[in-house]
Amino acid sequence: MGLPDASRESFLTALRKIFPGERLLCGRETIAPYECDALPVYCERPLAVALAASEEEVASALRLCHQFGVPLVSRGAGTGLSAGAKPMAQGLLLVTAPMNRILDLDPQAMTARVQPGVINQQISTAAAPLGLYYAPDPSSQIACSIGGNVAENAGGVHCLKYGVTVHNVLSVRLVSASAECVGEILTLGGDCLSQPGYDLLALVHGSEGGLGVITEVTVKLTPIPEQTRTLMADFASVRAAADAVSAIVRAGVIPAALEMMDKLAISATEAFCHAGYDLEAAAILLIDLDGHPQEVDVELAVVEQVLKVSGATRVQRAADDGQRARWWKGRKSAFPAIGRLSPDYYCIDGTVPRHRIGEVLEATERFSEKYGLRVANVFHAGDGNLHPIIMFDGSEPDALARTEKLAADILEYCIAVGGTITGEHGVGLEKINQMAVQFNDAELEQFRAIKRALDPSGLLNPDKQIPTLARCQEYRALRRSGD
Ligand SMILES: Cc1cc2nc3c(=O)[nH]c(=O)nc-3n(C[C@H](O)[C@H](O)[C@H](O)COP(=O)(O)OP(=O)(O)OC[C@H]3O[C@@H](n4cnc5c(N)ncnc54)[C@H](O)[C@@H]3O)c2cc1C
Repeated sequence: MGLPDASRESFLTALRKIFPGERLLCGRETIAPYECDALPVYCERPLAVALAASEEEVASALRLCHQFGVPLVSRGAGTGLSAGAKPMAQGLLLVTAPMNRILDLDPQAMTARVQPGVINQQISTAAAPLGLYYAPDPSSQIACSIGGNVAENAGGVHCLKYGVTVHNVLSVRLVSASAECVGEILTLGGDCLSQPGYDLLALVHGSEGGLGVITEVTVKLTPIPEQTRTLMADFASVRAAADAVSAIVRAGVIPAALEMMDKLAISATEAFCHAGYDLEAAAILLIDLDGHPQEVDVELAVVEQVLKVSGATRVQRAADDGQRARWWKGRKSAFPAIGRLSPDYYCIDGTVPRHRIGEVLEATERFSEKYGLRVANVFHAGDGNLHPIIMFDGSEPDALARTEKLAADILEYCIAVGGTITGEHGVGLEKINQMAVQFNDAELEQFRAIKRALDPSGLLNPDKQIPTLARCQEYRALRRSGD
């Protein structure tokens, strides 16, 4: 239910005062690009889109939404893959992308203080002359914003060694929606590694726009490693490649990156950008080792040995930076490359204990056959973070429904082997049903209690991430009935 006409006009008039001129979009055409994130199966036209330029504007917008009871969905760059930034029909979409200034780079403290709309990769680009970079590197890093990274607790290729977003953020400024302090600014975290009291900084990571609006982030910067060497290993079976992943870590080496691609992903990528992958391989591992040159040499020898013992049919060292760049370009282009194989694709994001990867990939193959849909796998193997990419044709009447069932089967298999339904893409709308499988009622009630404490009016990104009790019961009953 939306606002009555008169209230809607008053709301929009007040909003125009906060966001003058073209920074408030209400027309059908100007709003169209904001109707979905990178998961376009969920799409909705909001009441209005506000392009925020400052923390004060964000706070004023939040107060106004509170006054009128209008839901507010935050959006960064809109690259999310779980419909977290999908607007609400009667709500305001508040875009923080225009808040895109790097406010401070401190080489002594090794930190960067940035506005939420700063693009992930721009932090590393700006810090490079200081010999520093920002470690978490989602494959979408040329487009996604740091505010969105915090809200989703984003990961990336190099997070195995350097941690995901929460491990690389020192503090966040958040506009509050909680009862007595709507629109007030909270500083979560600080300059030191730990703070007294509840860890609200950790809480906001992965909060998906449901606990406040992020207006500033101070990230840790990491020294650019003296040397990085890359290995590529080919395998004749997916299981052997998966088992090698655990064996490397068991051998005492934490690679900077440890990624896996299966045959379908290899062939799609090779056709797309000629990365130099072996088209005969059933799977490949791409491995970065970084650090001091002597340390890297030792680790290279250990990992090569482990790969051979694990059954690699070929192990290559990148001969130079050019070859390294080509191999990684292939990995980073895998999504668009796979996108060329079918009219539509759907990328899911489950995480499993590393030693269960092989088993889950084999189960995925069985599910793929059951639903008659092809699945390619390209993922952060070192983290056990799987990204099965389901290919389908949305113009076929039941294709999306089959895709969603296949996705549900894979995610619930991840839970069954001790894993989770998301490693980095968040729950959003996409995985809200699986929350009912991942958590029991008592656990979900704790999430709801936290949400009620920090957003008592339930205006921030409602109906996402945390399912209602009724929805949980309905979904569990459906799954029990075998549907
Ligand atoms: C090709 C491709 C590859 C990808 N690879 C990866 C990967 O390797 N690792 C990974 O983690 N993700 C990956 N993603 C997913 C996506 O890029 C990340 O989830 C990213 O963190 C989203 O950032 P964004 O700025 O686009 O956020 P959006 O999509 O705009 O929003 C995402 C969520 O954050 C909330 N949000 C955004 N800004 C704010 C704010 N200022 N305050 C409060 N809440 C906010 C939104 O409400 C929403 O719930 C990939 C996506 C694509 C399309």
